[in-house]
Amino acid sequence: MTNHLYDGVFAPHADSSKTFLHTADGEISYAAFTALTDRIAAMLVAEGLAPGDRVAVQADKSVLLFALYAATVKAGGVYLPLNTGYTPAELEYFLGDAKPRIVVTSTAAAAAITPIAARIGARLMTLDADESGSLSEAAMRHDGPFDAVPRGSEDLAAILYTSGTTGRSKGAKLCHRNLRSNAEVLREAWQFSTDDTLLHMLPIYHTHGLFVAGNLLALVGGSMIFLPKFSADTALEWMPKATTMMGVPTFYTRLLDHEGFTAATSAHMRLFISGSAPLLAETHRQFEETTGKAILERYGMTETNMCTSNPFDGDRRAGTVGFPLPGVDLRIADAGTGAPLEDGEIGIIELKGDNVFLGYWEMPEKTAESFRDDGFFITGDMAVRDSDGYVTIVGRDKDLIISGGLNVYPKEVEGMIDDIDGVLESAVIGVPHRDFGEAVVAVVVRDDAGLAAATVEAALASQLAKFKQPKAILFTEALPRNSMGKVQKAELRKAHAGLFS
Ligand code: AMP
Repeated sequence: MTNHLYDGVFAPHADSSKTFLHTADGEISYAAFTALTDRIAAMLVAEGLAPGDRVAVQADKSVLLFALYAATVKAGGVYLPLNTGYTPAELEYFLGDAKPRIVVTSTAAAAAITPIAARIGARLMTLDADESGSLSEAAMRHDGPFDAVPRGSEDLAAILYTSGTTGRSKGAKLCHRNLRSNAEVLREAWQFSTDDTLLHMLPIYHTHGLFVAGNLLALVGGSMIFLPKFSADTALEWMPKATTMMGVPTFYTRLLDHEGFTAATSAHMRLFISGSAPLLAETHRQFEETTGKAILERYGMTETNMCTSNPFDGDRRAGTVGFPLPGVDLRIADAGTGAPLEDGEIGIIELKGDNVFLGYWEMPEKTAESFRDDGFFITGDMAVRDSDGYVTIVGRDKDLIISGGLNVYPKEVEGMIDDIDGVLESAVIGVPHRDFGEAVVAVVVRDDAGLAAATVEAALASQLAKFKQPKAILFTEALPRNSMGKVQKAELRKAHAGLFS
């Protein structure tokens, strides 16, 4: 038996001297990355890691951290990355829930985590941004080669906690098949090859940077320019070496704001991909005007890996997330009954396929609630499919506003507000209202300080049914976003909950 994910994705490169990772400190060849992975894998096993044990990690992005992911999988473990923004108090929940064998944190966080690790009987190791710490010291005492621990396609490879805007965060169980099959599908869909160099500026505690980017480039034997974080300056400095880039929408708006980003500086780039949050149609158009290239927008989630994509060859339509990827069975269904809807009707996206996770870690009820009887996963994303088959996401089901008993889809209202001169962007939310149950409220970021609420109201009055028109228009400096660029509507709802009381 093989190790399904490791052997499929991290198999040795035909040219082991080829550069896998470019960093500010130098280049790491495929051979060097494998050697590093082998040392770490041998160390993890020596520390007591048995097949199926979790390795929970909160650490800054580095080559060693990425090798720790590959090593955990190779050693038969389950990789559990945690957002670097979580506090020790938040970590306590994740560690208590997942009961890892090994916990890896920065030296700075170690003191706070020591008692938690002791309580759950986990071994605590440290790893800092400069790759120092007890983990690398221990790994250097081991040597490869290390034979991959056999694991089957249905065995767990990773647990990623969802960001959990309502209730507790849930651990999505991803098996070897989920991750490997998605990388294989993306290789074909986006035509990645060993000739590709991806500009990688995403965090690697999230599915986007870790799996969509990391697994895909390892699978095709390509290279990554592996940088700690995004800045437009750094992106432009490295772009000449890259062929492709993956980013969240903010990467693209920041690039467009940079005067150095032009048709000439991006001319050699084969592909720009966006996901994890909606790319404004306006950004898509501006990008095409500036560079002559259409951003390829795709849609996925932690639980499902990537599920739809605009076409590589063909019309990449602004504001849409394209078609289901090969092997992904997608339907748009009535949120209540699960009955499939006609094209043009708004419903909830439900999915089935090799990409769809196994369920939530130790939450059988939440898992059962999230799947239909016929095995389709209920994503919670509301969408509509047009007659050409393009899927457009209109928002999360929990962001749907019900005002006076009528459904208001925030995206429809946001799209109209965003088209008004002087508006940069907007978020439309529902807040409690005595008469209507919920009232529609627009939170608007202006780029013209003179723009008045009355102007926005007047612009909407002729276009929108009365029940969809905001009962209040509030101006703000910036919308609250998480590290993946997603607007935090729950935060906005909380901030404005008392508006009509
Ligand atoms: P996460 O699990 O953090 O990757 O978040 C997944 C959620 O991000 C999805 O359920 C969608 O609500 C949202 N999302 C991801 N990609 C897109 C996209 N291209 N357009 C709109 N929403 C997206």
